[in-house]
Amino acid sequence: MPRFEIDVDPCDHITADAIGQPGQRVFYIQAFQDQRTVSVIIEKTQLESLAIGVEKFLSQVSKQNPALPEASGDYMEEGMRIHPPLDPLFRVGEIGLGYDRDRDLVVVFVKELLSEEADPETAASIRFWCSREQIRKMARWGAEIVTRGRPTCPQCGQPMDPKGHFCAKKNGHKH
Ligand SMILES: [Zn+2]
Repeated sequence: MPRFEIDVDPCDHITADAIGQPGQRVFYIQAFQDQRTVSVIIEKTQLESLAIGVEKFLSQVSKQNPALPEASGDYMEEGMRIHPPLDPLFRVGEIGLGYDRDRDLVVVFVKELLSEEADPETAASIRFWCSREQIRKMARWGAEIVTRGRPTCPQCGQPMDPKGHFCAKKNGHKH
């Protein structure tokens, strides 16, 4: 049995954000429904793939349903920041996307990342039900925050820490 399964149906709002210093940022998905918030931790690379995946998924949905109005991805940054309380329910292992044609809602399915010893049957999961517009905004904003991390080293193309880094192109000298 899964530890728990939650449906946030529908999300009043859903977003992703990063907290912390560049290079040590922790990434979250956070959904709001009535008075409650539901948060999970994701990896930066997962958010990156999700942002790309959502765009592909939405264009596929549009192709299959040509009568649907185009979903806007325009967002206001103030509205996309996450808010306390941040009590992430788990760290995300798998992410999936689905579409409910009758309700015109996209579902983002996230499953808990478990340690190797844990029984995979116990993994908790959450389904975030959101409009195409909500998820497109989250994807666009998510893609933006992924790129806002550490600056890239002009010598080697690797991300640099604020204190500089040991550059492979400069034989490990800090610069
Ligand atoms: Zn470098």
